[in-house]
Amino acid sequence: MTTHLVWFRNDLRIHDNLALAAACRHPNATVLALYIATPGQWHQHQMAPRQAAFIQGHLNSLQQALGERGIPLLVKTVDDFAASITVLREACETHRVDALFYNYQYEINERQRDAAVEKTLSNVMCQGFDDSVMLAPGSIMTGNHEMYKVFTPFKNAYLRRLREGLPECVRAPDVRPGGALREALTAVELNYPQQDFDHTLFAADEKNALNQLRQFCQQRVVNYDTDRDFPAIEGTSRLSACLAIGALSPRQCLHRLLKEHPQALEGENGAVWLSELIWREFYRHLMTYHPKLCRHRPFITWTDNVQWQSNPVMLRAWQQGETGFPVVDAAMQQLNHTGWMHNRLRMIVASFLVKDLLIDWREGERYFMSQLIDGDLAANNGGWQWAASTGTDAAPYFRIFNPTTQGERFDKKGEFIRHWLPALAEVPDSDIHEPWGWADKVGVKLDYPRPIVSHKEARLKTLAAYEAARKGEA
Ligand SMILES: Cc1cc2nc3c(=O)[nH]c(=O)nc-3n(C[C@H](O)[C@H](O)[C@H](O)COP(=O)(O)OP(=O)(O)OC[C@H]3O[C@@H](n4cnc5c(N)ncnc54)[C@H](O)[C@@H]3O)c2cc1C
Repeated sequence: MTTHLVWFRNDLRIHDNLALAAACRHPNATVLALYIATPGQWHQHQMAPRQAAFIQGHLNSLQQALGERGIPLLVKTVDDFAASITVLREACETHRVDALFYNYQYEINERQRDAAVEKTLSNVMCQGFDDSVMLAPGSIMTGNHEMYKVFTPFKNAYLRRLREGLPECVRAPDVRPGGALREALTAVELNYPQQDFDHTLFAADEKNALNQLRQFCQQRVVNYDTDRDFPAIEGTSRLSACLAIGALSPRQCLHRLLKEHPQALEGENGAVWLSELIWREFYRHLMTYHPKLCRHRPFITWTDNVQWQSNPVMLRAWQQGETGFPVVDAAMQQLNHTGWMHNRLRMIVASFLVKDLLIDWREGERYFMSQLIDGDLAANNGGWQWAASTGTDAAPYFRIFNPTTQGERFDKKGEFIRHWLPALAEVPDSDIHEPWGWADKVGVKLDYPRPIVSHKEARLKTLAAYEAARKGEA
């Protein structure tokens, strides 16, 4: 009799789960599953309470789905990753485990933990899988066997590889020979602050996640390239929360997309959405190749010399959506109320924090992580380094978004702004992006802050700060 243990981490699903499928391949093996909650480590990583609630919901449906297949899910809680090594050793001893199966995580702390686990479990066969990506980090390299630094050639190489052969999806496991579990399940509760999330926006179980993916690919992906930049339109998939915790895999996204739009790989319908999925891969591959990114170091070294301002009052105004710039404030309200923010707005508010307030991008990275239901180190770090011009293939430092004209371009009539800022409900469309100009003219007092900075002056100050850093004068 052989016993296989599947260690679930950021892969909370039964369909297309490479580690789970491999563990179940042996028809007579006893298969057990384990999840280790590490609240102390999550605090260190600023995990958002909404993401914790999302994980807890998915763990409960995972436990149910595994139970129906005869696989018990053991849930343990320890403080941090170091303590989880002991839990694994004990679980392997208690259950006489012969082989451990898990899906790789590419962040540095996670990799160090996994290396320590493999060393400790010298009598257990350990197998890891590249499950959270379409193609494994290290498989798409330049002719000089280096990681690409620029997205477009990476994407072209990626698409070429996909055209040569698609990564397969694996089936959910069959019911084990002993049948479904008979004992009642105990609800999983994570010992971490929780904040409820909107179940109509974010699929609370795997079945709903797959439905959301199917509906998006059948109905909305065709308009994605025209709609995706306008936050008042429901133009994007909102699947990031599921992808971040592994309730969906990127291979499932790829296959569903190609089922509905087979020409997406050739640049037709759906190609732009596929390109976004490849951005996700780009940041994961980059982080694996450059672990300093996990330590929040900038990719472009000289940008570490920028003299950031320490300004807790301004930082708080940004966090609370009280900057006096309507598109920035509405976006921050969306984040604070739902745990999600539209991609265009993430770029605008990140640029505002860094380039209008000259506040260190790491403050924004941390705050996002503490609020996002889709918090993901690689994508978040990549997005912040892009906006702050510290990353590879980032916006050049002298490109500074004007928050007012960005609002005018992407929320022309202010529909999104009015939804999140009811204080501006009466402001006419033509003045919605600079409401105080209108309010002063007509003598209305708004329950809304005046702009906390002058964009024009802030822009010049920021340019000077970056230029001084670049010349090594800072
Ligand atoms: C400052 C900043 C911080 C960000 N932080 C995160 C984060 O913590 N977690 C996260 O998943 N994404 C992050 N992003 C990327 C992007 O904003 C979100 O993935 C996207 O808004 C999620 O919405 P969606 O699922 O509707 O995306 P869609 O437009 O439907 O895209 C499909 C999927 O592709 C991936 N994706 C899309 N755009 C990007 C991108 N630019 N970089 C990496 N992956 C992408 C996501 O997994 C997304 O679910 C960040 C971007 C910026 C500029």
